[in-house]
Amino acid sequence: MNREKLEQGLSELPLYVYFYMEPKDLEFSQRVRWICEHECTQYGKSWACPPGVGTVEACREHCLGYDKCLVISTVTEVADITDIEETLSTRQAHEQITDQVAELMRQCGASPFVLSTESCAICSRCAIADGEPCRFPEKMHPCVESQGINVIPVLEENGLEFQYGQNVVTWISMLLYRE
Ligand code: SF4
Repeated sequence: MNREKLEQGLSELPLYVYFYMEPKDLEFSQRVRWICEHECTQYGKSWACPPGVGTVEACREHCLGYDKCLVISTVTEVADITDIEETLSTRQAHEQITDQVAELMRQCGASPFVLSTESCAICSRCAIADGEPCRFPEKMHPCVESQGINVIPVLEENGLEFQYGQNVVTWISMLLYRE
């Protein structure tokens, strides 16, 4: 991959931070999957979420098939972070930037496996509800947590926090690739 071209492109995007790591250093946890299953309303309702994405072990195996991971983060200030609607409204901009980074990586010669935020919202009704395959598998991004990835150690080891300020929304995406 052309790292110089990638760096140039990344520097032109409104990213709060980005860094590289190795997928082998990611922590895959059944505990994260348990939270998906018991605390998320999207469980079983999207191909971007468990159990549609496969078992944690299958997700881990797939992720470890890549040798590099680009982690990107955006931050947005909102009037009131407890206003869920306002907080979630900042997600779309992050998803667009994630797509821009993925496209940039393709232009640089990589084929990233993109993990992003929350559940997929491309279709108004996910095909999984009708027992059909995903309509846009090339566009859909499973969320980071869907793979069983515990993102907290990733942030801690790189000196980052989920919460930069009282009303600052932080979004994270991971783009795994082969160098
Ligand atoms: S692209 Fe459509 S069918 Fe595929 S996961 Fe997203 S909502 Fe579901």
